[in-house]
Amino acid sequence: IKKIGVLTSGGDSPGMNAAIRAVVRTCAYMKVDCVGIYRGYQGMMEGDFKPMDARSVNNIINKGGTILKSARCTEFRTVEGRKKAYEQLRAEGIDAFVVIGGDGSFNGALKFNEEFHFPIIGIPGTIDNDIFGTSNTLGFDTATNTVVDVIDKIRDTASSHNRLFFVEVMGRDVGHIALNAGVGAGAEEILIPEENRGLERLLESLKRSKKSGKSSSIVVVAEGDKIGKSVFELKEYVEEHLPIYDVRVSVLGHMQRGGAPSCYDRVLASRMGVKAVESILDGQTNFMVGIQNNQIILTPISKAIKGHTKIDKELIRVSEIMTT
Ligand code: ATP
Repeated sequence: IKKIGVLTSGGDSPGMNAAIRAVVRTCAYMKVDCVGIYRGYQGMMEGDFKPMDARSVNNIINKGGTILKSARCTEFRTVEGRKKAYEQLRAEGIDAFVVIGGDGSFNGALKFNEEFHFPIIGIPGTIDNDIFGTSNTLGFDTATNTVVDVIDKIRDTASSHNRLFFVEVMGRDVGHIALNAGVGAGAEEILIPEENRGLERLLESLKRSKKSGKSSSIVVVAEGDKIGKSVFELKEYVEEHLPIYDVRVSVLGHMQRGGAPSCYDRVLASRMGVKAVESILDGQTNFMVGIQNNQIILTPISKAIKGHTKIDKELIRVSEIMTT
């Protein structure tokens, strides 16, 4: 292996730049050439490449987003699209690539590997923490910290006006951001897709907390939660059935995907980037780099794609005790 490509693909997440930096610097350390592939698989198909050395990643460890840009690319889903990408990589002399992205990006990488026997390694970059084979994806820690900061601010106004706030957070089909940020911000209720206990129980719990003397409440709702059809319908339902509260909704949206990565995500990105390049050079490819019990580990990409992440039951129990 003489030349390694690196790209970011799918949705961006904080820590992607730190991972790019780690891949580039590890290549420099190992005396292997490194090429930045711009705009994900779209740029790969178009040959949008730029050689990168240790100095081309100065001052990016603290930046959100991705300097390589990202894209969603439908053409790469076709055999013809992937063939184009392969030809571009061959022409540039790239022998392997590291893809930083979510499971869609890994699916594409795996297909590419199967068709062209091209060595690939994945680094999980998504705020949702929904990838099997790692306890943390890059960006999850930063996103939960962002959500906690915002809820702290919302709490100021909630308690000044005796209001009930439904705060919708990201997470796609899973409740990791909601559960962790909800516990961290001291939410009264956390609604996640993994534990749908129905509207009746929610009303009972809100009644109880009002009776026990709480003047305001924050309910964190994961976007994938199905308890109400939407967070706005949830508000209407509670207003209708529990007129004791003045209810407001706050949908946090894309602010959760941006911002400077936390120290945890920077360190994780650095460790994952080193492992990704070392693995390729050791001939261990078609793996995703992950972290488990603070150890950097490898999981076959095929398993990472098919596996399901589990919600932390112990943390659910903690959240229930904390809302007493
Ligand atoms: P996020 O967590 O933000 O969704 P992701 O990596 O899952 O990140 P996707 O948009 O699903 O984001 O995938 C990124 C890109 O990977 C797609 O635009 C496409 O080019 C490629 N891709 C996804 N799924 C496949 C597939 N089944 N076959 C080939 N390529 C794919």
